[in-house]
Amino acid sequence: MVKKTGRNGYSFFEGKLNTLLSNQMSLETMLHKALDNHEFELFYQPRMELKSGQIIGMEALIRWRHPDQGMISPAEFIPIAEESGLISPIGEWVLRTACSQNKAWQNEGYKPVCVSVNLSVRQFKDKDLVRNISGILNETQLDPRYLELEITENISMNNEEQVLSTLQEIRKLGVKISIDDFGTGYSSLNYLVNYPIDFLKIDQSFVRNIQSQSSDVSIVKAIIFIAHSIGLKVVAEGVETEEQLNLLRELECDDVQGYLISKPVECEEVRNFL
Ligand code: C2E
Ligand code: MG
Ligand code: MG
Ligand code: MG
Repeated sequence: MVKKTGRNGYSFFEGKLNTLLSNQMSLETMLHKALDNHEFELFYQPRMELKSGQIIGMEALIRWRHPDQGMISPAEFIPIAEESGLISPIGEWVLRTACSQNKAWQNEGYKPVCVSVNLSVRQFKDKDLVRNISGILNETQLDPRYLELEITENISMNNEEQVLSTLQEIRKLGVKISIDDFGTGYSSLNYLVNYPIDFLKIDQSFVRNIQSQSSDVSIVKAIIFIAHSIGLKVVAEGVETEEQLNLLRELECDDVQGYLISKPVECEEVRNFL
């Protein structure tokens, strides 16, 4: 298991799932139970538009509040959920919860923001995906332009018909699409022009040393240049310092996300940002 310390304010010791695994139950059964017992929760991380300084979005990030183990990070259980197929019901729960929560904020009179939901590879390949999204939008009455889906290059960007047609159907619904962790995958770049994409989210590994490492500045600069040339917008992930923020502003990055603006917060805290 991945060792994590202090991310998001929690300390993870040597993989909480390791401890759980020594129990009698299989992890799959545990994830099932977690879903039934409402142990999953969505945190939200604000996204700021650099030009206006306004919060224009919230990324939904799942957490597992385990009764004995406390908070478990998605990095630990999402890969297992993905392998076991449980990602489908969990992913659907995330989508429904994020949409209905966003609609609730709007109903309370806050300025509308876009909610971003992460999709795993298996979810993206699910043939019911588009029907599910459309059903949830109907059910929650959320205007589709206030939903964005984040996918990674792992869905395979090599001009696969299937991927293209799914993306086109999502676009037809009026939902936005972003490429998460951009720059860490192995895809060729031509998909950027052929696929209907709205945003590139530059992976935090390029942002981390942007002040000290000139090669990272070059990469970020190049990504922004390419994106803007073909009509895409850019979000920088993992912005932690004013220096990074200022540099990204100079490079004309569109939006930023990171601990400098805010860590992911509980649902109740989101209103402070709206
Ligand atoms: P991601 O979508 O790339 O999300 C960004 C991750 O970076 C989040 O970790 C966030 O808390 C963290 N982060 C944000 N700002 C900063 C910063 O300034 N510094 C640092 N060091 N970290 C920052 P988190 O919440 O642990 O999520 C990890 C990954 O798990 C996500 O990466 C995403 O791929 C996946 N994930 C989270 N929620 C879901 C979900 O509902 N469904 C699916 N399929 N995957 C999810
Ligand atoms: Mg994401
Ligand atoms: Mg990311
Ligand atoms: Mg990531």
